[in-house]
Amino acid sequence: MHQVLALPDGEEIPYLLERRARRTIGMKITVDGLVVHAPLRIRQADLEALLRSKARWITSKLKARQAATIPEFEWRDGAELRLLGQPLTLSIAQSPRNRSPRLEGNTLRLATTDIHDQAVIARKVIQWFQKEAKLDFARRLPILSARLGEPTPSLFLSNAKTRWGSCNSRREVRLNWRLIQAQPALVNYVIAHELAHLREMNHSARFWAVVASIYPDYRTAEQALKACSQQLYQIG
Ligand SMILES: [Zn+2]
Repeated sequence: MHQVLALPDGEEIPYLLERRARRTIGMKITVDGLVVHAPLRIRQADLEALLRSKARWITSKLKARQAATIPEFEWRDGAELRLLGQPLTLSIAQSPRNRSPRLEGNTLRLATTDIHDQAVIARKVIQWFQKEAKLDFARRLPILSARLGEPTPSLFLSNAKTRWGSCNSRREVRLNWRLIQAQPALVNYVIAHELAHLREMNHSARFWAVVASIYPDYRTAEQALKACSQQLYQIG
């Protein structure tokens, strides 16, 4: 059974819960993420309290797993990136002057004094992605808010390690800049999900009904997002 563990800092960790005839709680990290084996009788609230007390272990293990499975991105000329699901080729020119990335068709061009300085190239390209993300998300947010009949909340970019978005009671929506690499439908889904939290600050059936009212095919989007999330986290 798929569950989501909400941490005090707002982070949400999806996990697979398997109830077994056993007396203790077991946790392991697999390719599918966190898997929890729990006794049949333990109450969900008690189980989650225990998992929350192990949050540090869980997040560090998940991160280690992620680092181990994703090859480090190589910031070199010809590297393949993605913008809203479209492939983008990175073109790096050696030049006496640095030039910020510029999009030309499907090529992202930048110039740098040292084409082997991966850290500098990474920083420039990530800054460019963040700028694009802010512009794009700021266009989508009012459209989806209107669909829900809510005033547009404040938008912030996030750099979270394990989640795509968040929303708080001060009507602040945070969206992970890495989402700008994903298909537009997935960006819309994450925004719809966070907007629905303006009505329901939980993941109850009522919450999902609100999501469905502005993004009917949310289940497909949720799965697609899970499937590509490792790829989206390859940079930054
Ligand atoms: Zn949520």
